[in-house]
Amino acid sequence: MVKTVGVIGGGQLARMMIPAALELGVGIQVLAEAPGMSAKLAESAVGDYRELEPVLAFARTVDVVTFDHEHVPQHVLRALVDEGIPVHPGPDALQYAQDKLLMREKLTELGLPVPDWAAVETPAELAAFLDEHGGRAVVKTARGGYDGKGVRVVNAPTDVDDWFTALAEDGNGGALLVEELVDFRRELAQQVARRPSGEIVAWPVVETVQRDGICAEVVAPAPASAGHIAEVSEDIAVRIADGLGVTGMLAVELFETTDDRVLVNELAMRPHNSGHWTIDGSTTSQFEQHLRAVLDLPLGGTGTLRPWSMMINVLGGPEGATMPDRYAAAMREHPTAKFHSYEKESRPGRKVGHVTVSGDDLDEVAYQARGAAAFFQQ
Ligand code: ADP
Repeated sequence: MVKTVGVIGGGQLARMMIPAALELGVGIQVLAEAPGMSAKLAESAVGDYRELEPVLAFARTVDVVTFDHEHVPQHVLRALVDEGIPVHPGPDALQYAQDKLLMREKLTELGLPVPDWAAVETPAELAAFLDEHGGRAVVKTARGGYDGKGVRVVNAPTDVDDWFTALAEDGNGGALLVEELVDFRRELAQQVARRPSGEIVAWPVVETVQRDGICAEVVAPAPASAGHIAEVSEDIAVRIADGLGVTGMLAVELFETTDDRVLVNELAMRPHNSGHWTIDGSTTSQFEQHLRAVLDLPLGGTGTLRPWSMMINVLGGPEGATMPDRYAAAMREHPTAKFHSYEKESRPGRKVGHVTVSGDDLDEVAYQARGAAAFFQQ
Protein backbone atom coordinates (compact mmCIF):
# COMPACT_ATOMS: atom_id res chain seq x y z
CA MET A 1 0.00 0.00 0.00
CA VAL A 2 1.29 3.47 -0.87
CA LYS A 3 2.06 5.47 2.23
CA THR A 4 1.72 9.24 2.49
CA VAL A 5 4.18 11.47 4.30
CA GLY A 6 2.69 14.66 5.73
CA VAL A 7 5.07 17.61 5.98
CA ILE A 8 4.28 20.48 8.32
CA GLY A 9 5.54 23.72 6.79
CA GLY A 10 5.47 24.78 3.14
CA GLY A 11 9.00 26.13 2.67
CA GLN A 12 11.82 25.07 0.37
CA LEU A 13 12.71 21.97 2.40
CA ALA A 14 9.18 20.58 1.93
CA ARG A 15 9.41 21.61 -1.73
CA MET A 16 12.59 19.59 -2.29
CA MET A 17 11.00 16.48 -0.75
CA ILE A 18 8.38 16.49 -3.55
CA PRO A 19 10.53 15.21 -6.46
CA ALA A 20 11.99 12.55 -4.14
CA ALA A 21 8.47 11.39 -3.21
CA LEU A 22 7.41 11.35 -6.87
CA GLU A 23 10.42 9.21 -7.83
CA LEU A 24 9.77 6.75 -5.02
CA GLY A 25 6.06 6.71 -5.74
CA VAL A 26 5.16 7.56 -2.14
CA GLY A 27 2.54 10.14 -1.29
CA ILE A 28 3.40 13.58 0.04
CA GLN A 29 1.12 16.26 1.46
CA VAL A 30 1.99 19.61 2.95
CA LEU A 31 0.36 21.70 5.65
CA ALA A 32 1.45 25.19 4.57
CA GLU A 33 1.43 28.39 6.62
CA ALA A 34 -0.12 30.29 3.69
CA PRO A 35 -1.41 29.35 0.24
CA GLY A 36 1.03 29.15 -2.67
CA MET A 37 4.31 28.80 -0.76
CA SER A 38 7.41 27.03 -2.15
CA ALA A 39 5.91 23.56 -1.61
CA LYS A 40 2.61 24.50 -3.27
CA LEU A 41 2.64 21.44 -5.58
CA ALA A 42 2.03 19.17 -2.57
CA GLU A 43 -0.06 21.64 -0.55
CA SER A 44 -3.16 19.91 0.77
CA ALA A 45 -4.06 22.22 3.62
CA VAL A 46 -3.29 25.68 4.94
CA GLY A 47 -3.20 26.25 8.68
CA ASP A 48 -1.33 27.55 11.68
CA TYR A 49 1.22 24.95 12.84
CA ARG A 50 1.05 26.44 16.36
CA GLU A 51 -2.62 25.44 16.72
CA LEU A 52 -3.65 21.90 17.62
CA GLU A 53 -6.81 21.75 15.54
CA PRO A 54 -5.42 22.31 11.99
CA VAL A 55 -2.34 20.19 12.69
CA LEU A 56 -4.39 17.28 14.05
CA ALA A 57 -6.88 17.45 11.17
CA PHE A 58 -3.97 17.34 8.70
CA ALA A 59 -2.11 14.58 10.56
CA ARG A 60 -5.18 12.32 10.49
CA THR A 61 -5.02 12.28 6.66
CA VAL A 62 -1.41 10.98 6.40
CA ASP A 63 0.60 7.92 7.54
CA VAL A 64 3.52 9.74 9.11
CA VAL A 65 4.14 13.37 10.08
CA THR A 66 7.43 15.17 9.57
CA PHE A 67 8.63 18.77 9.28
CA ASP A 68 9.98 21.58 7.14
CA HIS A 69 10.98 23.46 10.33
CA GLU A 70 11.27 22.86 14.09
CA HIS A 71 8.66 25.32 15.34
CA VAL A 72 5.64 23.09 16.01
CA PRO A 73 5.00 23.43 19.77
CA GLN A 74 5.54 20.46 22.07
CA HIS A 75 1.91 20.26 23.22
CA VAL A 76 0.75 19.96 19.60
CA LEU A 77 3.33 17.24 18.84
CA ARG A 78 2.42 15.31 21.98
CA ALA A 79 -1.28 15.37 21.08
CA LEU A 80 -0.46 13.70 17.74
CA VAL A 81 1.62 11.04 19.46
CA ASP A 82 -1.19 10.44 21.99
CA GLU A 83 -3.51 9.71 19.05
CA GLY A 84 -1.07 7.08 17.80
CA ILE A 85 0.07 9.10 14.77
CA PRO A 86 3.72 8.38 13.87
CA VAL A 87 5.73 11.63 14.20
CA HIS A 88 9.38 11.73 13.04
CA PRO A 89 11.35 13.17 14.63
CA GLY A 90 9.22 12.74 17.76
CA PRO A 91 8.75 15.44 20.40
CA ASP A 92 11.30 13.89 22.81
CA ALA A 93 14.04 14.30 20.20
CA LEU A 94 12.78 17.52 18.63
CA GLN A 95 12.81 19.45 21.92
CA TYR A 96 16.62 19.59 21.65
CA ALA A 97 16.41 21.29 18.25
CA GLN A 98 13.81 23.73 19.61
CA ASP A 99 15.65 24.94 22.67
CA LYS A 100 19.38 25.67 22.66
CA LEU A 101 19.65 25.51 26.47
CA LEU A 102 18.07 22.06 26.62
CA MET A 103 20.39 21.00 23.78
CA ARG A 104 23.54 22.23 25.58
CA GLU A 105 22.46 20.48 28.82
CA LYS A 106 21.75 17.18 27.07
CA LEU A 107 24.94 17.15 25.00
CA THR A 108 26.99 17.96 28.10
CA GLU A 109 25.30 15.07 29.93
CA LEU A 110 26.15 12.75 27.00
CA GLY A 111 29.80 13.84 27.20
CA LEU A 112 29.81 15.45 23.75
CA PRO A 113 32.23 18.33 23.02
CA VAL A 114 30.49 21.72 23.22
CA PRO A 115 31.76 25.27 23.81
CA ASP A 116 31.99 26.31 27.46
CA TRP A 117 28.46 27.54 28.30
CA ALA A 118 26.08 28.66 31.04
CA ALA A 119 22.41 29.52 31.47
CA VAL A 120 22.11 33.13 32.69
CA GLU A 121 18.97 34.68 34.14
CA THR A 122 20.41 38.05 35.17
CA PRO A 123 22.93 40.64 33.93
CA ALA A 124 25.05 39.83 37.03
CA GLU A 125 25.32 36.18 36.03
CA LEU A 126 26.33 37.21 32.50
CA ALA A 127 28.93 39.62 33.94
CA ALA A 128 30.42 36.74 35.96
CA PHE A 129 30.70 34.56 32.83
CA LEU A 130 32.32 37.42 30.90
CA ASP A 131 34.86 37.91 33.72
CA GLU A 132 35.84 34.24 33.49
CA HIS A 133 36.14 34.33 29.68
CA GLY A 134 38.30 37.33 28.88
CA GLY A 135 35.45 39.86 28.70
CA ARG A 136 33.82 38.55 25.49
CA ALA A 137 31.24 35.87 24.84
CA VAL A 138 28.35 34.86 22.59
CA VAL A 139 24.81 35.20 23.93
CA LYS A 140 21.90 33.35 22.34
CA THR A 141 18.18 33.28 22.92
CA ALA A 142 17.20 29.69 23.77
CA ARG A 143 14.30 29.64 21.33
CA GLY A 144 13.19 31.15 18.07
CA GLY A 145 16.58 32.10 16.55
CA TYR A 146 17.53 31.31 12.96
CA ASP A 147 20.07 32.52 10.39
CA GLY A 148 22.03 34.28 13.12
CA LYS A 149 19.03 36.18 14.55
CA GLY A 150 19.11 35.58 18.28
CA VAL A 151 22.94 35.38 18.38
CA ARG A 152 25.12 38.29 19.60
CA VAL A 153 28.78 38.71 20.44
CA VAL A 154 28.83 40.73 23.67
CA ASN A 155 31.39 42.66 25.69
CA ALA A 156 29.04 43.73 28.47
CA PRO A 157 25.67 42.61 29.88
CA THR A 158 24.10 45.83 28.59
CA ASP A 159 24.60 44.52 25.02
CA VAL A 160 21.63 42.20 25.60
CA ASP A 161 19.51 44.47 27.86
CA ASP A 162 16.59 44.06 25.47
CA TRP A 163 16.72 40.25 25.75
CA PHE A 164 16.81 40.35 29.56
CA THR A 165 13.85 42.76 29.52
CA ALA A 166 11.94 40.42 27.20
CA LEU A 167 12.65 37.49 29.55
CA ALA A 168 11.37 39.46 32.54
CA GLU A 169 8.20 40.49 30.66
CA ASP A 170 7.67 36.92 29.50
CA GLY A 171 7.57 35.86 33.16
CA ASN A 172 8.24 32.18 32.41
CA GLY A 173 11.49 32.07 34.35
CA GLY A 174 13.51 31.68 31.18
CA ALA A 175 17.25 32.14 30.73
CA LEU A 176 19.70 33.13 28.01
CA LEU A 177 22.48 30.86 26.77
CA VAL A 178 25.98 32.29 27.04
CA GLU A 179 28.95 30.56 25.43
CA GLU A 180 32.67 31.09 25.04
CA LEU A 181 33.51 32.95 21.82
CA VAL A 182 35.00 30.01 19.93
CA ASP A 183 38.17 30.70 17.98
CA PHE A 184 37.38 28.55 14.98
CA ARG A 185 39.35 27.79 11.84
CA ARG A 186 36.21 26.93 9.95
CA GLU A 187 32.64 25.68 10.33
CA LEU A 188 31.67 22.13 9.38
CA ALA A 189 28.40 20.25 9.15
CA GLN A 190 27.88 16.53 9.58
CA GLN A 191 24.68 14.90 8.38
CA VAL A 192 23.34 11.50 9.29
CA ALA A 193 19.98 9.79 8.80
CA ARG A 194 18.47 7.44 11.38
CA ARG A 195 15.47 5.14 11.08
CA PRO A 196 13.06 4.39 13.93
CA SER A 197 14.51 0.87 13.89
CA GLY A 198 17.96 2.35 14.63
CA GLU A 199 19.83 2.05 11.30
CA ILE A 200 22.13 5.05 10.77
CA VAL A 201 24.06 6.27 7.73
CA ALA A 202 26.42 9.25 7.44
CA TRP A 203 27.48 11.51 4.56
CA PRO A 204 30.98 12.97 4.40
CA VAL A 205 31.47 16.00 6.64
CA VAL A 206 31.18 19.29 4.71
CA GLU A 207 32.58 22.81 5.15
CA THR A 208 30.07 25.63 5.46
CA VAL A 209 30.84 29.31 4.96
CA GLN A 210 28.52 31.81 6.66
CA ARG A 211 28.13 35.48 5.75
CA ASP A 212 26.23 37.75 8.16
CA GLY A 213 25.08 34.63 10.07
CA ILE A 214 23.61 33.02 6.92
CA CYS A 215 25.03 29.98 5.14
CA ALA A 216 26.51 31.21 1.84
CA GLU A 217 28.53 28.27 0.49
CA VAL A 218 29.03 24.56 1.20
CA VAL A 219 31.95 22.42 -0.01
CA ALA A 220 31.52 18.65 0.06
CA PRO A 221 33.48 16.90 1.38
CA ALA A 222 35.20 19.48 3.62
CA PRO A 223 38.72 19.98 2.16
CA ALA A 224 41.50 18.28 4.14
CA SER A 225 39.04 16.47 6.39
CA ALA A 226 39.85 12.85 5.51
CA GLY A 227 40.99 10.87 8.54
CA HIS A 228 40.73 12.46 11.97
CA ILE A 229 38.25 15.29 11.29
CA ALA A 230 35.90 13.03 9.29
CA GLU A 231 35.99 10.29 11.93
CA VAL A 232 35.42 12.63 14.88
CA SER A 233 32.58 14.47 13.10
CA GLU A 234 30.78 11.27 12.16
CA ASP A 235 31.22 9.82 15.63
CA ILE A 236 29.73 12.97 17.21
CA ALA A 237 26.68 12.94 14.90
CA VAL A 238 26.03 9.22 15.38
CA ARG A 239 26.24 9.60 19.18
CA ILE A 240 23.78 12.50 19.05
CA ALA A 241 21.34 10.67 16.74
CA ASP A 242 21.39 7.62 19.01
CA GLY A 243 21.54 9.52 22.30
CA LEU A 244 18.61 11.80 21.46
CA GLY A 245 16.62 9.17 19.53
CA VAL A 246 16.51 11.25 16.36
CA THR A 247 14.48 9.82 13.45
CA GLY A 248 14.90 11.24 9.94
CA MET A 249 17.71 13.59 8.94
CA LEU A 250 20.02 15.13 11.53
CA ALA A 251 22.48 17.93 10.74
CA VAL A 252 25.12 18.77 13.33
CA GLU A 253 26.78 22.16 12.85
CA LEU A 254 30.35 22.02 14.11
CA PHE A 255 33.30 24.30 14.80
CA GLU A 256 36.81 23.14 13.90
CA THR A 257 38.82 25.19 16.38
CA THR A 258 42.28 26.66 15.88
CA ASP A 259 43.53 24.20 18.52
CA ASP A 260 42.16 21.22 16.53
CA ARG A 261 39.04 20.44 18.51
CA VAL A 262 35.68 19.71 16.96
CA LEU A 263 32.81 21.28 18.96
CA VAL A 264 29.06 21.06 18.43
CA ASN A 265 27.32 24.36 17.68
CA GLU A 266 23.76 23.59 16.56
CA LEU A 267 21.40 20.75 15.64
CA ALA A 268 18.70 20.50 12.97
CA MET A 269 16.41 17.46 12.78
CA ARG A 270 15.26 17.76 9.19
CA PRO A 271 16.91 18.23 5.82
CA HIS A 272 19.36 21.12 6.17
CA ASN A 273 20.98 23.74 3.96
CA SER A 274 24.37 22.04 4.41
CA GLY A 275 22.97 18.98 2.60
CA HIS A 276 21.48 20.56 -0.53
CA TRP A 277 24.56 19.40 -2.47
CA THR A 278 23.37 15.79 -2.01
CA ILE A 279 20.60 16.29 -4.61
CA ASP A 280 23.20 16.51 -7.36
CA GLY A 281 26.33 15.15 -5.69
CA SER A 282 25.41 12.01 -3.72
CA THR A 283 23.89 8.60 -4.43
CA THR A 284 20.98 9.49 -2.14
CA SER A 285 19.77 13.04 -1.59
CA GLN A 286 18.98 14.16 1.94
CA PHE A 287 15.34 14.66 0.85
CA GLU A 288 14.94 11.09 -0.40
CA GLN A 289 16.77 9.82 2.68
CA HIS A 290 14.50 11.77 5.00
CA LEU A 291 11.44 10.15 3.39
CA ARG A 292 13.02 6.70 3.59
CA ALA A 293 13.95 7.22 7.24
CA VAL A 294 10.55 8.53 8.41
CA LEU A 295 8.85 5.65 6.55
CA ASP A 296 11.32 3.25 8.26
CA LEU A 297 12.61 1.97 4.91
CA PRO A 298 16.21 0.79 4.42
CA LEU A 299 18.51 3.79 3.93
CA GLY A 300 20.30 4.65 0.68
CA GLY A 301 24.01 4.97 -0.08
CA THR A 302 25.69 8.21 0.98
CA GLY A 303 28.73 8.19 -1.30
CA THR A 304 29.67 11.11 -3.53
CA LEU A 305 29.01 10.85 -7.28
CA ARG A 306 32.01 13.07 -8.06
CA PRO A 307 35.02 13.93 -5.86
CA TRP A 308 33.83 17.51 -5.13
CA SER A 309 30.56 19.42 -4.95
CA MET A 310 29.99 23.07 -4.15
CA MET A 311 26.58 24.50 -3.29
CA ILE A 312 26.00 28.25 -3.34
CA ASN A 313 22.88 29.82 -1.88
CA VAL A 314 21.15 32.46 -3.96
CA LEU A 315 20.57 35.09 -1.26
CA GLY A 316 18.14 37.87 -2.05
CA GLY A 317 17.79 36.98 -5.71
CA PRO A 318 17.95 39.17 -8.81
CA GLU A 319 16.44 42.62 -8.33
CA GLY A 320 12.94 42.84 -9.72
CA ALA A 321 13.32 39.43 -11.39
CA THR A 322 13.25 35.70 -10.64
CA MET A 323 15.95 33.04 -11.03
CA PRO A 324 14.31 31.63 -14.20
CA ASP A 325 14.49 35.10 -15.79
CA ARG A 326 18.28 34.70 -15.75
CA TYR A 327 18.47 31.04 -16.74
CA ALA A 328 19.27 31.56 -20.43
CA ALA A 329 22.47 33.48 -19.73
CA ALA A 330 23.55 31.43 -16.69
CA MET A 331 22.97 28.08 -18.38
CA ARG A 332 24.83 29.16 -21.53
CA GLU A 333 27.93 30.11 -19.52
CA HIS A 334 27.81 27.25 -16.99
CA PRO A 335 26.51 24.01 -18.48
CA THR A 336 27.77 21.89 -15.55
CA ALA A 337 25.75 23.89 -12.98
CA LYS A 338 22.49 22.56 -11.54
CA PHE A 339 19.90 25.26 -10.79
CA HIS A 340 17.32 25.09 -8.01
CA SER A 341 14.71 27.81 -7.63
CA TYR A 342 12.32 27.88 -4.67
CA GLU A 343 9.85 30.13 -6.55
CA LYS A 344 10.16 32.85 -3.96
CA GLU A 345 10.10 36.55 -4.67
CA SER A 346 13.43 38.33 -4.42
CA ARG A 347 13.99 40.05 -1.07
CA PRO A 348 17.32 41.09 0.53
CA GLY A 349 18.95 38.19 2.42
CA ARG A 350 16.21 35.69 1.58
CA LYS A 351 17.19 32.20 0.39
CA VAL A 352 15.44 32.02 -3.00
CA GLY A 353 17.36 29.13 -4.54
CA HIS A 354 20.74 27.46 -4.86
CA VAL A 355 23.25 26.33 -7.45
CA THR A 356 25.40 23.18 -7.26
CA VAL A 357 28.37 22.12 -9.35
CA SER A 358 30.13 18.75 -8.98
CA GLY A 359 33.40 17.65 -10.58
CA ASP A 360 36.93 16.31 -10.24
CA ASP A 361 38.81 19.53 -9.54
CA LEU A 362 37.77 21.74 -6.59
CA ASP A 363 39.13 24.98 -8.08
CA GLU A 364 37.16 24.45 -11.29
CA VAL A 365 34.04 23.39 -9.36
CA ALA A 366 34.25 26.56 -7.22
CA TYR A 367 34.82 28.77 -10.28
CA GLN A 368 31.81 27.33 -12.11
CA ALA A 369 29.52 27.37 -9.04
CA ARG A 370 30.34 30.96 -8.06
CA GLY A 371 30.13 32.11 -11.66
CA ALA A 372 26.73 30.48 -12.16
CA ALA A 373 25.33 31.82 -8.86
CA ALA A 374 26.52 35.35 -9.66
CA PHE A 375 23.92 35.59 -12.45
CA PHE A 376 21.21 35.69 -9.78
CA GLN A 377 22.89 38.01 -7.32
CA GLN A 378 22.60 41.38 -8.99
P1 ADP B 1 21.26 30.16 14.31
O1 ADP B 1 20.45 29.18 15.10
O2 ADP B 1 20.62 31.51 14.18
O3 ADP B 1 21.78 29.61 13.01
P2 ADP B 1 23.83 29.62 15.53
O4 ADP B 1 23.85 29.23 16.94
O5 ADP B 1 24.02 28.55 14.50
O6 ADP B 1 22.52 30.46 15.23
O7 ADP B 1 24.93 30.73 15.28
C1 ADP B 1 25.04 31.45 14.06
C2 ADP B 1 26.51 31.72 13.72
O8 ADP B 1 27.12 32.50 14.76
C3 ADP B 1 27.35 30.46 13.63
O9 ADP B 1 27.26 29.86 12.37
C4 ADP B 1 28.73 31.00 13.94
O10 ADP B 1 29.30 31.59 12.78
C5 ADP B 1 28.47 32.07 14.97
N1 ADP B 1 28.58 31.51 16.36
C6 ADP B 1 27.61 30.87 17.04
N2 ADP B 1 28.05 30.47 18.26
C7 ADP B 1 29.34 30.86 18.34
C8 ADP B 1 30.37 30.74 19.35
N3 ADP B 1 30.13 30.16 20.55
N4 ADP B 1 31.58 31.25 19.06
C9 ADP B 1 31.85 31.84 17.87
N5 ADP B 1 30.94 32.00 16.90
C10 ADP B 1 29.69 31.52 17.11
